[in-house]
Amino acid sequence: MAVINILDKNTIDQIAAGEVVERPLNVVKELTENAIDSNATSITVEIKDGGSSLIRVTDNGSGIPKTEIKKAFMRHATSKIVNAADLLKLSSLGFRGEALSSISAVSYVECITKPHDELLGLRYVIEGSREIEFQEIGAPDGTTFIVKDLFFNVPARKKFLKSNQTEGSYITDLMEHLALSTPDISYKYIVNNKEIFNTSGNGDLKEVIYRIYGKEISDSVLDINIENDLFKAHGFIGKPEINRSSRVNETLFVNGRYVQCDVLLKAVEEGYKNFLMQHKFPFVVIHFDINPSWIDVNVHPSKMEIRLQNAKEIYDLVVENINARLANISLIPSVKLEDEVLIDEKPTKGPEFFETNRIRLNDNADIKPLSIKNIDDNQAKSVKVIGPLKITRPTLDEATSNIIKQKEIIDIESTSQLSLFDADFLSEDAKPSYEILGQIFKTYWLIAFEDKLFFMDQHAAHEKVKYERILKQVKEKSILTQNVNPPIIINLTGKQCGIVTEYTDMFNNLGINVEDFGLGAVAIRSMPLDLYGCNEKEFFLRLLDEIIENPLKGSYDVILEKIASMACKAAVKGNTKMNMDEVKALLDELMTLDNPYNCPHGRPTIFSMSKYEIEKKFKRIVN
Ligand code: ADP
Ligand code: MG
Repeated sequence: MAVINILDKNTIDQIAAGEVVERPLNVVKELTENAIDSNATSITVEIKDGGSSLIRVTDNGSGIPKTEIKKAFMRHATSKIVNAADLLKLSSLGFRGEALSSISAVSYVECITKPHDELLGLRYVIEGSREIEFQEIGAPDGTTFIVKDLFFNVPARKKFLKSNQTEGSYITDLMEHLALSTPDISYKYIVNNKEIFNTSGNGDLKEVIYRIYGKEISDSVLDINIENDLFKAHGFIGKPEINRSSRVNETLFVNGRYVQCDVLLKAVEEGYKNFLMQHKFPFVVIHFDINPSWIDVNVHPSKMEIRLQNAKEIYDLVVENINARLANISLIPSVKLEDEVLIDEKPTKGPEFFETNRIRLNDNADIKPLSIKNIDDNQAKSVKVIGPLKITRPTLDEATSNIIKQKEIIDIESTSQLSLFDADFLSEDAKPSYEILGQIFKTYWLIAFEDKLFFMDQHAAHEKVKYERILKQVKEKSILTQNVNPPIIINLTGKQCGIVTEYTDMFNNLGINVEDFGLGAVAIRSMPLDLYGCNEKEFFLRLLDEIIENPLKGSYDVILEKIASMACKAAVKGNTKMNMDEVKALLDELMTLDNPYNCPHGRPTIFSMSKYEIEKKFKRIVN
């Protein structure tokens, strides 16, 4: 018979810890919710390296009495419920009494705490469930938890963690949600020694929105208040113009908890239906108050999903109210004079080939080659023509043709073709004999060559060409940039700031010169010439969103390439009008690439249909 072992406390704690603490996020959540439960009015959360090297949570709450502290670290130790019946009337956030024991089983934990009515505080250190120190010390009122080296004794867990940036971004999300859920608590949130946001705790939700999302968004939100027999709701909803391409800015709370409730999210989106384009999502922060007995609560503390009774009625009421609120305002964006310095209110405009309109609009623009390498004198001359030093600006036509010249220089070296199915068409030799027939659906170009009809996806082709050009310039250290003058100032969320900080170097290498502008804003001072001409702000936000949604992994070069491809994708989104010459230039350039057939994201750029296939469709050929 197998021997039955009784597991020791350490092992039991570690197993339990696996349930509660999967990643640094869980530690921050448990510690911060404990701080909230302790009636703190001010909470500081600091993390380093995505939380794996350091998490520090400081509150000014009740503190833990000397007699209780050791108990607090035991499993199923909680001051919040006494028995199962209490579960039903729960208002506090944590209640299983497992957090501290679990966290201390898999890290080094130091707790410094002092209740208001005690003279001295305590310092309690515990490592991998082993008590290391217990001493009286002078301390401020409240509690500080310091968690270091998470998973130092559980290598498998550690290996499973994502990059520091990704782990950190989960925590940033959490902190944003906590700050928005409790505006009467002042939060300070610090990542790698940098303050990401700081809220005042004055109870004003709009102020929290301002601190987290910046002035531009907080200037564009409408208050919403709903009251009926089924629920109450209050919060802010964004004017349609501050939409995003994903749900990142839809934040809902039910009875104080951040939730992902499908019914409510869909109802909000439906309310915006007449005001937003398809695949665009609104900005909303809404607090719902719903009778707890109508909510199927999953008592697992980390579950954010809930189900509602009366879902259909609640859904209809939300749709109706949001729709009415939006219909109630004039939706024409207004430009406030005092906002001009901080807010870029330029009209939104898609990217344009050859940048003609862009140059017309932005007379201050100057084109600046950073360094020019591997080109002969003749070529260098034509680059110089568009250099920044000349005082008179070229006419529009001159400028346009110069940019075209320079395009030719960059890709002057034609590369050998892959012998894929359409290689003949996509080769330099094919140039003279193809015929561009025209554009369909504002996106695809039809091209006839020999006995084939080709379909080119203008966006994919653009993306591909830009991507290859930029990568080539990066490799040759000859990236061509265009000054953005005056610089474009963009307000960012904490998470977006984190991405900028982490990848500033790479952005610079790619010719996107971005600098910290203080108070959560950045200044864009230059753009790669190849991406110039799109709306810089929209471009940059799209790029950051893309990185947030698809965390980057791999070596420096791999990440650089990924950012380049994301940048190109962000730059060519939206409909781009092109004339025949521009399409020709695009096609010609596409033809010089090693692999012209797929955009950097793998979508095809071009495909063909043979005369044979067409004739078959018309049943001119049977079989
Ligand atoms: P739970 O929160 O589920 O009760 P925890 O393991 O998170 O369990 O915490 C155990 C106990 O320690 C809490 O019930 C509370 O009494 C005490 N405690 C933890 N953190 C704090 C804090 N920041 N301030 C005051 N008391 C705290
Ligand atoms: Mg707790």
